[in-house]
Amino acid sequence: MSGIDGKVVAITGASSGIGEATALELAGRGAAVVLGARRVDRLEALAARITQDGGRAAAVTVDVTDRPDVNRFVDAAVERFGRLDVFVGNAGIARTAPVSELDVEGWEAMIDVNLRGVLHGVAAALPVFRRQGRGHLVTVVSTSGLKIVPTQAVYAGTKNAVRTLLEALRQESTDGALRTTSISPGFVRTELVDAITDDDVRRQAQDRMAEIGIDPAAVARAIAFAIEQPDDVEIGDMTIRPTVQN
Ligand code: NDP
Repeated sequence: MSGIDGKVVAITGASSGIGEATALELAGRGAAVVLGARRVDRLEALAARITQDGGRAAAVTVDVTDRPDVNRFVDAAVERFGRLDVFVGNAGIARTAPVSELDVEGWEAMIDVNLRGVLHGVAAALPVFRRQGRGHLVTVVSTSGLKIVPTQAVYAGTKNAVRTLLEALRQESTDGALRTTSISPGFVRTELVDAITDDDVRRQAQDRMAEIGIDPAAVARAIAFAIEQPDDVEIGDMTIRPTVQN
């Protein structure tokens, strides 16, 4: 199966930003999308919008830090649409601050969502992919892990842990049944940095995002490109950043 039309795609973090844009892009191209996040009102509004436009979508509340929740999310996709072709592990948070501030709670939250959350997705989706004999795991990591800068130490660490995970999984899965893709966006205009608790770091990040951030649809198109390739073609890593980002 190649292309996007008819594929069943589960997306975590679909209530805003990159996840929402990805759902709209893929649904517009004929995929059935299963939307996961905690803010179910947003998911339901997005699912209604997609359905009204003639697409197929289901909204499922999921907290990716909770393994049974992620299992239920994947089960819901299979129950509703009969299979799961792609799992997009996109949910993420950025509690960035200098390490010296010792925001241990923020570190743990980032590990729980950005790393443990993706691992929960892998644990839930892989058995389904193996059963079907085919599947595609897409994760949204970050240029933070490629160019290391101050204040992003733990955030970048979680993203690079996921990058490492996917490369090992790729090498373990060369029987043709699994494709893996890591997408590394640079600054993208979303709500991501609004939750940063350090006032200076948050203001700087918001300013930079407003100044140079690209539209989340750009990342959605990159995800669509990886998905639409024929089964024997794996897009491993992609970096999408503003042309002016240093
Ligand atoms: P947003 O804040 O707009 O989206 C983050 C999404 O993650 C929301 O849908 C949120 O939904 C969801 N989420 C957060 N915590 C949880 C949780 N515990 N369980 C389930 N869902 C959760 O930001 P982006 O769209 O920018 O972020 C998407 C991904 O892109 C993240 O992994 C981020 O690290 C990455 N990224 C973003 C960049 C940027 O510049 N924007 C750059 C590089 C990477 P809810 O709160 O409803 O649960």
